Amino acid sequence: MAGGGAHNARRAPPLRARLAAALAAACVAMAPTPALALPAMAQRLIELRDQVRMFPDTVLARLLALQPGIGAEPPRVQAELLAQISSARARLNQHDAAAATADQIVAYGRALKDDAIVVKGLLAQEAAAYARDDNPAAQRYVFEAEKLALRTGDQRLRAEAGLEAGVARAELGDFPGALATVQSAIDAARTLEGDPMPLFHALRALTRLHIQTKDRAKAYATLGELTALAEQQRLPLQMVLLKTSEYIVNVSFGRPERARRALLECLALERKLGARYMLPSTLNNVADSYLKAHDYPRAAQYAAEALRAANGLNFTGSDAAAHSNLGQAYLGMGRIAEGKRHFEASLAWFEQTQSKPDLQSLLLEYGQALEDAGDMTGAIQAYHRERAISNELFQAKRRQAVLELQEWYAADQKQRQIELLSRENRIKDVELDNRRLAQRLWWLLAIVFGLASVAGGLLYRRVRQANGQLEAKNQTLKALSTRDPLTGLYNRRHFHDTMDRLPAAPRAGAAAGALFLLDIDHFKHINDRHGHAAGDAVLKAVAETLRVTLRETDLIVRWGGEEFLAFLPAVPRGRVDEVALRILRGVSTHAVVHQGRDIAVHVSVGFVPFPLAPAGVPLAWERVLNLADMALYLAKKNGRNRAYGVPALDHVGAAALAAIERDLERAWRDGLLELTVVDGGAPAPRPPDAGDAAPSRQANTGR
Ligand code: GH3
Ligand code: MG
Ligand code: MG
Repeated sequence: MAGGGAHNARRAPPLRARLAAALAAACVAMAPTPALALPAMAQRLIELRDQVRMFPDTVLARLLALQPGIGAEPPRVQAELLAQISSARARLNQHDAAAATADQIVAYGRALKDDAIVVKGLLAQEAAAYARDDNPAAQRYVFEAEKLALRTGDQRLRAEAGLEAGVARAELGDFPGALATVQSAIDAARTLEGDPMPLFHALRALTRLHIQTKDRAKAYATLGELTALAEQQRLPLQMVLLKTSEYIVNVSFGRPERARRALLECLALERKLGARYMLPSTLNNVADSYLKAHDYPRAAQYAAEALRAANGLNFTGSDAAAHSNLGQAYLGMGRIAEGKRHFEASLAWFEQTQSKPDLQSLLLEYGQALEDAGDMTGAIQAYHRERAISNELFQAKRRQAVLELQEWYAADQKQRQIELLSRENRIKDVELDNRRLAQRLWWLLAIVFGLASVAGGLLYRRVRQANGQLEAKNQTLKALSTRDPLTGLYNRRHFHDTMDRLPAAPRAGAAAGALFLLDIDHFKHINDRHGHAAGDAVLKAVAETLRVTLRETDLIVRWGGEEFLAFLPAVPRGRVDEVALRILRGVSTHAVVHQGRDIAVHVSVGFVPFPLAPAGVPLAWERVLNLADMALYLAKKNGRNRAYGVPALDHVGAAALAAIERDLERAWRDGLLELTVVDGGAPAPRPPDAGDAAPSRQANTGR
């Protein structure tokens, strides 16, 4: 490294001169009036721009010192200074100040009607939003900046905004879009002669994209280009960033040894340069790499150092990471009390930031580390906490999914909505009637009491009549609000109410029960071929079959269009498959006769025991239903007219459960669980031209 430094010193001056000339040229080009003198300010700014990452505190002080003399500079140079002040503040976690400065730039640009300045401001707003973890806001700013930058036609702005927009697209999961955007940022950056930094940053972003899309060959190729660029120019910041990229590529593609070597080189460089703001995260990465190698004493040493390095920098995130690394290292060494103390410190921080997914994965790590250290009680407690958060997240996701489905229904099934509306109106009418009746009743009662002695007999009869009517109306109201009008089965609302009234944590094994989710096969085809009325007749017939096949005490629900749900509260575990077979046979044995025509009907089923308590911790019913839904999907995919059952999962740990809930089919293939397959018998004749395409997932979920 020392040799590299000497080389660096030799090469630096000509490059710096070129850089200054480049930015000067840029600023001159941007300035409304041609400024012939080489702007000294522009030269200062470019030097500082590349140092802000390593030394945000000293750079901020220098930038602020430049401010008083800035008034005489062209507006774009003034804006550049403000942008850098904002960037330094964001890096120092001075969130409000960073955002305020960014807003100031945008306002300045708008007042001057100068799009280039507005873009600068938007990018500063974006950086400030990222620094305070507000990604949606950051994305809004960056896409606006991207659009505006394209309009200005300025290559430098295109490179800067394109790079950021590409990263944002990747965050949103749009990898093709991200690749195209970053590629065009690279093209723009290549035109910026004399300023290699934008190209360098854009290539780093491209490397990360190749990692995210698991394109090993391209990731290494881009890393090669980055290395060549850095070795040619030997700027300290480039060397540090290059080592970081080298670490990320190698750790992502299964070369932990090389990854660590790059990381240690990076650390040495940062130490040599005194880049103390970069140290905590590098030290944490080193600690993490030793943790993965189960070298706990070394991991502890680096994590402790990361903690000391973050101390006083207002870097609470690094602090939290260091605590969790330290906790894991101590637990690995069997120092359980200390390990727990550090883990708890880290958890407290994540709890405070309200970042539930992070909290959840940290709790999983915590549980695993405690389990490995032999503290089973502690591990179970951690898993309980994890499960609670996971339930919360799952319910939030489910609510979101329900909302989305409602929108879909709104677009797709206007007719049914109208029906629903008129039903609601009927309910309201009944409610109104009831209120009127109740009022009448009270009046009548008053009169009865008042005139009891006079005309008691006659009036009393009328009171009884009104009372009887009220009772009957109440019955109608109840039926209307809990039943599906076509099939007479319970509706979704009633099912939700019932499930929500179940004891919060039913004891595992105490009441053996099961959930069955059914979906009529090729139902659309029945509608298309025989008409909607025939479809309705089939729905009624299937409902009737379920009523006959299942017990009085079972809760049978019309779950969606042609989906049914049955909750059997008491069916011994050994008999669940039989029930599935009874359902399959019950539906398919007799064709439905409609207007003299036979319609063959069969269903696919997914079923799961309920309550379900993997490792003794009960799952919320929504999650059990989600498993049934995935099982149903498998039944569809594997030929229909069959049922797929999930077993009790008694001894399934948290990690396996997460994998199962994510992708049942894959977990099954990986041997994490065994599924029961119940065949409905000889496949009912497939309707002509119905195809056997994989079922559409959305149509099947009913939500
Ligand atoms: P798969 O075997 O994959 O389940 O195919 P499918 O055709 O049964 O599934 P899909 O979800 O594509 O079609 C369901 C159809 O059910 C679409 C919708 O128009 C119809 N449908 C929904 N509710 C009703 C209803 O109340 N009456 C009638 N007749 N049809 C309905
Ligand atoms: Mg269907
Ligand atoms: Mg369906």
